[in-house]
Amino acid sequence: MAITRRALGATVLALVLATPAMPQDQGYVGIAMPTKSSARWIDDGNNMVKQFEDAGYRTDLQYAEDNIPNQLAQIENMITKGVDALVIAAIDGTTLTSALANAAAMDIPVIAYDRLIRDSGDVDYYATFDNFKVGVQQAETLVAGLKERFPDTKPWNVELFGGSPDDNNAYFFYDGAMSVLQPMIDSGEIEIVSGQMGMDTVGTLRWDGSVAQARMDNLLSANYTEQRIHGVLSPYDGLSIGIISSLQGVGYGSGDLKMPIVTGQDAEIPSVKAILRGDQYSTIFKDTRELARVTVGMVDALLQGGEPEINDTETYDNGVKVVPSYLLEPVPVTAENWEKRLVDSGYYEKSEIK
Ligand code: BGC
Repeated sequence: MAITRRALGATVLALVLATPAMPQDQGYVGIAMPTKSSARWIDDGNNMVKQFEDAGYRTDLQYAEDNIPNQLAQIENMITKGVDALVIAAIDGTTLTSALANAAAMDIPVIAYDRLIRDSGDVDYYATFDNFKVGVQQAETLVAGLKERFPDTKPWNVELFGGSPDDNNAYFFYDGAMSVLQPMIDSGEIEIVSGQMGMDTVGTLRWDGSVAQARMDNLLSANYTEQRIHGVLSPYDGLSIGIISSLQGVGYGSGDLKMPIVTGQDAEIPSVKAILRGDQYSTIFKDTRELARVTVGMVDALLQGGEPEINDTETYDNGVKVVPSYLLEPVPVTAENWEKRLVDSGYYEKSEIK
């Protein structure tokens, strides 16, 4: 029987239409996240699983509750289970060298997710935000808040907090912030009354809010019995919560003791609420949907023979190599713009916040 090309085309089309749109099995991806104690990492994990699944991948998502041996065991287990790629947000960016060597031996590509993995040549790509800019924005909103709330005060008394010293990002946040604050300290506009500066002194191990709260208590009792504090550089919403409760504990935010300007990062819901109450002044929104999109794109390119999209080949030297990176834009959020940034963008429902 002679089959015309048109008839054959129609048959193929009919078959295609009859087949339900099932994503093909493109591969298996291990996703190692640091902790569920912060909402942002839960969002990161969920966004990635969804986007990987939409692209036809299976996933294994694990959280290590900020325990380094746990995270190592989870990654080793993923390698044993035969993942085709690894996406890792490290707890301590210096502890994964041997696990990544095992991955490399199995030809498993590794993406450092949000946090750089250090001391390893086996990190293929890095998906993150412009971390220096996060720090710049934190300091800029701190200064804007000081001008707004304490226009007639000079100098402004400020204390500094840093992130976890085992997280490479913490240094970028601190250095970005100091690029704005140091000139103002030098000119006498800002005074760090405790004199405590530098990541060795102001770092907060594992980004722990209770550690920040205890340090704030000490700073207040040692330095602020006679004078008032006007601002606190905090690099993360979870630290800001501890810092704010310490400040409120000695009466700031009530009577004539104005709440100091406190910054943050991640636009977590309790902290956005604190911004609307006036307890916290600002946070930095990092759209984890976008970070997931970039990461899924990188993995997909690596596994399907394409070129991952990058926009930075200079900034992130991990001690062994400069890791090719894609940096997303962070966005400062205050009581002025929260709705536009967080609700209009579809990141949160308005009812989650108000
Ligand atoms: C992330 C921040 C986060 C911090 C604490 C950093 O590595 O970049 O977004 O606030 O970890 O979880």
